[in-house]
Amino acid sequence: MKKLEEYVRSIPDFPEPGIIFRDITTILQDPDGLHLAIQSMQDKLKDTEFDVVVGTESRGFIFGVPIAYNLHKAFVPVRKKGKLPCETVSMEYDLEYGSAVIEMHKDSIKPGQKVVLVDDLVATGGTIEAAIKLVEELGGEVVKVVFLMELAGLKGRERLKGYEVESVLCYD
Ligand code: IMP
Repeated sequence: MKKLEEYVRSIPDFPEPGIIFRDITTILQDPDGLHLAIQSMQDKLKDTEFDVVVGTESRGFIFGVPIAYNLHKAFVPVRKKGKLPCETVSMEYDLEYGSAVIEMHKDSIKPGQKVVLVDDLVATGGTIEAAIKLVEELGGEVVKVVFLMELAGLKGRERLKGYEVESVLCYD
């Protein structure tokens, strides 16, 4: 069986010159790749007690839902601004150019619930840091953050200091 890293397609100069984009669609489109990815992320939670998986739009949904389903936990989406129909909390964070706003429903996390955050990839850590702030604003306790891929050179892990961070694949 192939290793997980062999399913990742790396595309130079996307979306801009100098960036190597790590494409997960080639993992998902192969049944063995998909299984390996979900299982490898789930294995990072073997010894973790928690109540809820929180996934960030949109690739955090792809991995977060099957993990929550397999472990019989709840799943809560973090969405881009304007998508959630009920009362929300929101957080603005910086992108390379400009900023973005993400939101969660106010009643999606109960105070004291133990939360695992999931996303496909951590680069600077800005997206997941904003999601952590929302979870904490709702009274949730972040017990672990799990990524399929980490771009170590962008130092997201340093930004997330104080949290338990796990990634399955690490690129420089
Ligand atoms: P950060 O906020 O800088 O950590 O960027 C992470 C977010 O950007 C995640 O939600 C990723 O889905 C997305 N992202 C950044 N670079 C890549 C990449 O090379 N492949 C796939 N997603 C990426």
